[in-house]
Parts: sequence; C-alpha cells; structure tokens
Amino acid sequence: MARVIAISNQKGGVGKTTTAINIASCIAASERRVLLIDMDPQANAGSGLGIYQNSELKSMYHVLVDDLPLLDVVQGTELTFLDVAPSSQDLSGAEIELVSTIGRESRLKDAIEPALAEYDFIIIDTPPTLGLVTVNALTAADSVLIPLQSEYYALEGLSQLLKTTSLIKKRLNPRLEREGILLTMYDRRNNLSQQVEKEIRKHFEGEVFKQVIPRNVKLSEAPSYGKPAILYDYSSLGSVAYIRVADEILSRYPNGKDVSISRKQVM
Ligand code: ADP
Ligand code: MG
Repeated sequence: MARVIAISNQKGGVGKTTTAINIASCIAASERRVLLIDMDPQANAGSGLGIYQNSELKSMYHVLVDDLPLLDVVQGTELTFLDVAPSSQDLSGAEIELVSTIGRESRLKDAIEPALAEYDFIIIDTPPTLGLVTVNALTAADSVLIPLQSEYYALEGLSQLLKTTSLIKKRLNPRLEREGILLTMYDRRNNLSQQVEKEIRKHFEGEVFKQVIPRNVKLSEAPSYGKPAILYDYSSLGSVAYIRVADEILSRYPNGKDVSISRKQVM
C-alpha cells in the first residue's frame, strides 16, 4: 500500500514543487515505485520532469471532474520507478466546477484508491491556495509535508495551514498526520536563515526535518531541462540535501531502510 504524502503550503514560491519533484525522484532512484500527482494548474511538477502540456493531454482535471481513471493519465518519466499524473491549466476551473458535485472533497481520495497497490509512495504537489483542490489533496493523504522558506515571514500563514489541516483531520480525514516541516532555500551564511531555523525547531520540536534544503542554483536550473536534480547534477548540494530528506522519510517506514540510490537509475 502506498504512503500518500501531500506537499502543501498556501504561500507561493516556498519550494513546494521543487520539493515534490526531488523527493519523488530520490525515492524512485532507490527503486521504490513512486507516483507524483501534480494538482497545481501551473503544472510545474510535470514540466519539471519533462512532461509538457498540450491540448491532447489527459490530466488530473479529467480525473477530478470527468471521473477518468487516475491510472489512465499516468505517464512514465526518465526514472524507471517514477510516474507522473500531470496537471493542466483547466485544473484552476475545477475549484468552481467541483463546488456543486457530491463528495467534492474526496474526489481525489476515491481516484487514488486503485493506484495504492501499484506504488510505494504517492507524492501530491498542491497549488498555493487552501481551496477545494488542496482540500482534496489533504483528504487523500496520509500525511502533509510543509516546506517553509527560511526567511523572516516564514511563519506567516502557517497557522492558517495548520488550522485547515486540523479541520480536515477532524471532519474529512482522521488519518492525516504531519510528515514534517522542511526548511527550504536555506542560506548558511545568512544569520536570518539560522535564526528562523532556531525559532522553528523550538516551536515545532521534533517535527522539523534534520536536513535543510540550501539555496542552490542547480535546483532552480534542473526543471528547465525537464530533469530532477539527481539527473541534472547528481553531486550538487541540492541533490544531496534532497537525498537526505528522502532518507529521513524512508527510515520511518517498515520496509524503508535507507535511500541507497541505485547507480543504474541515475546514470
Ligand atoms: P512553489 O511550488 O512553492 O511555488 P517552487 O518549488 O516552484 O515553489 O519554487 C519557487 C522558485 O524558487 C522556483 O523558481 C524554484 O526553481 C526556486 N527554488 C526552489 N527551491 C530552491 C532552492 N532550494 N534553491 C534555489 N532555488 C530554489
Ligand atoms: Mg508549485
């Protein structure tokens, strides 16, 4: 049965998509079957893995709104163990189209059901809103991973996200846990990054990933080549950091062990 992890924070530009792509690909490179579901109408998770929008593309929009089976929209990637369920711009309309449908909060949960046996991990990238699409992601997930940018306003909006997740836990998805808070775009030379880290670790004791994600240009370049960081520059600081985060995640699950990246997968 797949572990379903939603990557969420209603702030834009905090590293959600970068985290979704790179955690998914690091876990896949250690030969666990991973599905990355792109739920952001901007469709950057797909394009960052070389899947581009076109009018023929069947996407998560069709799954959510037209009941197309999830496995019908899944596409393979350069990594053998990583598949993607792409998004499309239409998905922004889904927020409104879903409002009047029955079971509107659990459309994704229902759609994911047949995929649970096919994958070890399902990672969901979410849009920078707390609307119905994000609610669907949190209702379908076992846990939420929250990327926080290591800057002064990092905590802004976090209380609202935590309120939303506890409401969803209470009303829609009692199994929802927090996978953890991940500090992104961390700059070791900057005092502010260190202060923010200290404050967040104190406030959310035991809930923050040990590994932080450094600000690293390779992480921002890789998507324009349609590649995850481990295929673009395996030994970059960004790749290494995401491998360690994937390792922290895998070590929590019974058959997790470590992320021993298979050379065959990344060469
Ligand atoms: P979100 O999905 O939360 O909107 P993104 O993952 O798209 O955020 O990141 C926003 C921008 O910052 C993108 O251009 C991305 O390439 C860049 N970025 C994300 N994480 C890093 C990082 N650790 N170092 C450098 N650039 C980053
Ligand atoms: Mg994004």
